[in-house]
Amino acid sequence: MNVTAERLNRVRSRLQKACERSGRAVDTVRLLAVSKWQPAEAIRSLHALGQRAFGENRLQEALTKQAELGGLPLEWHFIGPVQSNKTRDIAAHFDWVQSVDREKILTRLNAHRPKHLPPLQICLQVNIDREPQKAGIDPDAVRALALAARECPALQLRGLMCIPAQSDDPRVTRASFLRLAAIADDLASDGFELDTLSMGMSGDLETAVDAGSTMVRVGTDLFGPRPASAAGHHAEARGAKAS
Ligand SMILES: *Cc1c(COP(=O)(O)O)cnc(C)c1O
Repeated sequence: MNVTAERLNRVRSRLQKACERSGRAVDTVRLLAVSKWQPAEAIRSLHALGQRAFGENRLQEALTKQAELGGLPLEWHFIGPVQSNKTRDIAAHFDWVQSVDREKILTRLNAHRPKHLPPLQICLQVNIDREPQKAGIDPDAVRALALAARECPALQLRGLMCIPAQSDDPRVTRASFLRLAAIADDLASDGFELDTLSMGMSGDLETAVDAGSTMVRVGTDLFGPRPASAAGHHAEARGAKAS
């Protein structure tokens, strides 16, 4: 078995064990392969092993890889900071945007989603630990943004996404995940039909599954370490705002 297949199997088996431990069916958690900074060939290899959903956080990099991959039937998720001058291309070239954190972006994605495509699938990114440097909407403002999303016919609000504060203590991370789950529950009791809690990455996917995640976003443990790069990249990987 090659290294890609081994990594994928390891992540799948971690997910399966986490689901068993939490008394959940394994098909209730989707795996998003975060392919940022990885070459198109790495995406092709995972696709050949059955992986369909890929996450990218930079528009230009994603468009280049999409062109290289031609007609491969993949599901593309945008998970990085959305600048308002990029909404036209993002709306045209992605199936999901998980990092919507303000109304202006909602409105522009709605206006720019091409009419021949199905609605763009949206998650609201929540700054669950209220970290000043981090992207995401304040937990108290989620409901207003969800109401605004409801007014956008070219968008379908699927749920919430978060990147919790860095912590070595799984109990702290778990508390953050549970707070995101509670916000989603509140929205559900307000009549929002949400099915997605996008939380959990390489280091904390078990904790996220136990707290109710329905989609884990895994980069490093699927592809290996990302190539060392500019400092800004590393800040972005931890969910920093667009500079
Ligand atoms: C990079 C990134 C991930 C993946 O992180 P890993 O620790 O490499 O698994 C997940 N979510 C977002 C938003 C990211 O930017």
